[in-house]
Amino acid sequence: MFRKDSASDATFRKQVRSWFEANLPRELRGRTVRPPPADLMVWYKLLSERGWIAPHWPKEHGGMEATLSEQIIIAQELGRLSAPHLPLQGVNHLGPILMRYGTHEQKQRHLPPILRGDVIWAQGYSEPGSGSDLASLTTKAELKDDHFVVNGTKIWQTWAHHADWMFTLVRTDPEAKPKHAGISFLLINLRTTGVKTKPILNIAGDDEFSQVFLDDVIVPKENLIGPLNGGWKVANDLLANERLFTSSPQHALEVVHRITRLASANGRDGDPVFRDKLAALRIRIIAQEALFWQAADLIANGRPLGPASSTMKLIATSNLQAATDLLVDVADTHGADVRRQSVGDDDLDVTRIFLQSRRATIYGGSSEIQRNVLARRVLGLPS
Ligand SMILES: Cc1cc2nc3c(=O)[nH]c(=O)nc-3n(C[C@H](O)[C@H](O)[C@H](O)COP(=O)(O)OP(=O)(O)OC[C@H]3O[C@@H](n4cnc5c(N)ncnc54)[C@H](O)[C@@H]3O)c2cc1C
Repeated sequence: MFRKDSASDATFRKQVRSWFEANLPRELRGRTVRPPPADLMVWYKLLSERGWIAPHWPKEHGGMEATLSEQIIIAQELGRLSAPHLPLQGVNHLGPILMRYGTHEQKQRHLPPILRGDVIWAQGYSEPGSGSDLASLTTKAELKDDHFVVNGTKIWQTWAHHADWMFTLVRTDPEAKPKHAGISFLLINLRTTGVKTKPILNIAGDDEFSQVFLDDVIVPKENLIGPLNGGWKVANDLLANERLFTSSPQHALEVVHRITRLASANGRDGDPVFRDKLAALRIRIIAQEALFWQAADLIANGRPLGPASSTMKLIATSNLQAATDLLVDVADTHGADVRRQSVGDDDLDVTRIFLQSRRATIYGGSSEIQRNVLARRVLGLPS
């Protein structure tokens, strides 16, 4: 680990570890595909009741207002037990945006159900023709008196087929130049007439995302967040948060844990070539941890991350993929076997976690796009 716990952090870690060990249902550990909502939300609600679902939220909104080290300790301890990935679009992405841009009524209405886990949120940014070039999006929202009429389609929405609501980007001024000046940030209840969702399977056979079709959907005007045609800034603040959360070293460390378990079970841990590869991977992750702490420190002090969020996403996702490559390598002749593999009294997923990690260099802005950002904003190269 990059940092040593202070005395109070060590006490907190002990408390968190023993509570997680006692309360995280065994059947939810080590899953590479998200369990169905009915199972997963049990864990969400347990964390919520304990007051630990939103460590970074301020107390006035029901959060824990945890210190930076406490937040990281929680993430590390969840990773240690291979806890399942919860649908945290509400807690991590929308919550901080509502606190910043929402009206009093919007906060009152939407923050408590997010905390309690009564509502699952999806993120409706990408469209079939607008992923990397997000500002070209065409889903249209026409303002008529007290409501918008929304038409269009969104794609790759994580868990939208299980979600209740979607925060989304819509075009409210088709004539605006530049294009991003005509975009607004809107909340859509997915149970509204005219909304359809169609699940999509990913390479690991997981129906992790869906396409959402919006056909003359009536959305009350009070669901607009921030100014009309001012959604681009809101959207980008949210994306910077998203990159920070996806850059947590925890994802790669969780894979390292699987690698060491497998290697000690099949004897590869005595192989000097393997040990060399594992050491190199661990060093990369330690460097990532250092960067993550630095970025988290900046945010905690109210400073913008800027292009550092792109550097972090690039490093974090390439480390994750390097870790899953090594996991498949350690599995030897079982490296292409999609079934769970026996490890002592236990079993673990190898191939599916490798397949699942391929997506990391696409979501939240692909690696090519992050490199473009760095080329322009850090190196000053022409667009
Ligand atoms: C697992 C997963 C979950 C996702 N969840 C969500 C979600 O919840 N909500 C949501 O809105 N979206 C989501 N997405 C969509 C994601 O944001 C987009 O896939 C991503 O932004 C890329 O857009 P695209 O798929 O349209 O690819 P394109 O933009 O068509 O890109 C195709 C390829 O061309 C490259 N490319 C494009 N433009 C350039 C350029 N200017 N320079 C160099 N290379 C370029 C890209 O890097 C990529 O390799 C998710 C994606 C994945 C994989």
